[in-house]
Amino acid sequence: MAERRKLTLTSEILIAMVAGAVLGVIINMVFADTGFVQDMVVGGLFSVIGSIFVAALKMLVVPLVFVSLVCGVTALGDVAALGRIGIKAIALYLFTTAVAITIALTLAGIVSPGDGFDISDPTAEFQGREAPPLGDVVIDIVPSNPVAAFAKGNMLQIIVFAIIFGVAMTLAGERGRHVQNFFVDLNAVVMAMVGIVMKLAPYGVFCLIAKTFATQGVDIILPLASYFLTVVAALLVHAIGVYGLLIRFVARLNPMMFFRKMRAAMVFAFSTASSNATIPVTLRSVEYRLGVKNSVASFTVPLGATINMDGTAIMQGVATVFIAHVFGVDLGIVDYLTVIMIATLASIGTAGVPGVGLVMLSMVLDQVGLPVEGIALIIGVDRLLDMMRTAVNVTGDATVTSIIAKSENAFDHDTFKDPEAGVLEADLPAASRA
Ligand code: ASP
Repeated sequence: MAERRKLTLTSEILIAMVAGAVLGVIINMVFADTGFVQDMVVGGLFSVIGSIFVAALKMLVVPLVFVSLVCGVTALGDVAALGRIGIKAIALYLFTTAVAITIALTLAGIVSPGDGFDISDPTAEFQGREAPPLGDVVIDIVPSNPVAAFAKGNMLQIIVFAIIFGVAMTLAGERGRHVQNFFVDLNAVVMAMVGIVMKLAPYGVFCLIAKTFATQGVDIILPLASYFLTVVAALLVHAIGVYGLLIRFVARLNPMMFFRKMRAAMVFAFSTASSNATIPVTLRSVEYRLGVKNSVASFTVPLGATINMDGTAIMQGVATVFIAHVFGVDLGIVDYLTVIMIATLASIGTAGVPGVGLVMLSMVLDQVGLPVEGIALIIGVDRLLDMMRTAVNVTGDATVTSIIAKSENAFDHDTFKDPEAGVLEADLPAASRA
């Protein structure tokens, strides 16, 4: 009986997603002009419940990342190992992003999206953003005021503070150990909170998806079909091809099992369009479903949600080629290399929140001398692409996390092989495993 119930919540979330999409499309096609449905159902019910769900997920992010990472650092108890994991993570995150954007540019080069596009009617306005000076970005990693970092949810600053706090706890000897025990207990409590919010998931996912599909008609995609489909194709090649190969040959794990176990995190990423809000689910999935130890996952998952955005880089690559074609600008090999470099770097320090990839695109366009206004052309289809690329971003975080865990001997094969391990409804483990 318990086994059957376990399967139910995961299936419920998937069913809620499909049902939400179907209802959303119906509302968009049949009730587009019905004030009551638009105001009360889409703008009211769906919007309110969807927003509450996202807020509940975000509520967990800061406490979860902090508590989990402090536990991870103290369990590791070794600053050298931490440095090693950090270097591996950053190198792999940058590498996968560079591969992602190269795939995007290659596919876009073959398909040539934007040829023959009618530029006369850009539908929306877009305000670009200046790139902050690199020095400021680096200085900003150190939280001059940790409370402000927590209040703003500044992930990199929280990570730095948690690491120093965890290391200090180890250095503080016996007294530090008391605090450590407290944090291990606190971690169990926060994980139980994650379990509570998960119960809301089917309703939240249903409302978020229904609202998106009700407001985003399929017809806006048609004029941009070549752009849209090229991004989707590149996302699929990267997610299935690159991650599949990395999982198979570098992590030496079964890719089918990997994707199956990451399904819940992908659905959450898709519905919320935010890697950040998905952290609780990603962390839970890689630890309890895949079998990555907390000492690695608590560090690499929040870091990845903040600096690793392969799906976003893919959109930026295709968008750059699309906008260049529309404006009749020829991009040379140097421009392509510049795009690879800037888009890879731009993904660092970009928060994993909805739509931010488009804002960062302005920096990429600027670097290769393309008009930032070009973004207005693609903004209409961005929400749907944002959902898909966020699912890829999160899968990328889990891929790199698994590779590092394997290399650090911080991976539990029994958990990985057990199809039922850590399913959403399973009793929550009492404490994190080091
Ligand atoms: N929404 C994406 C994320 O949270 C970022 C983006 O591409 O806009 O990962």
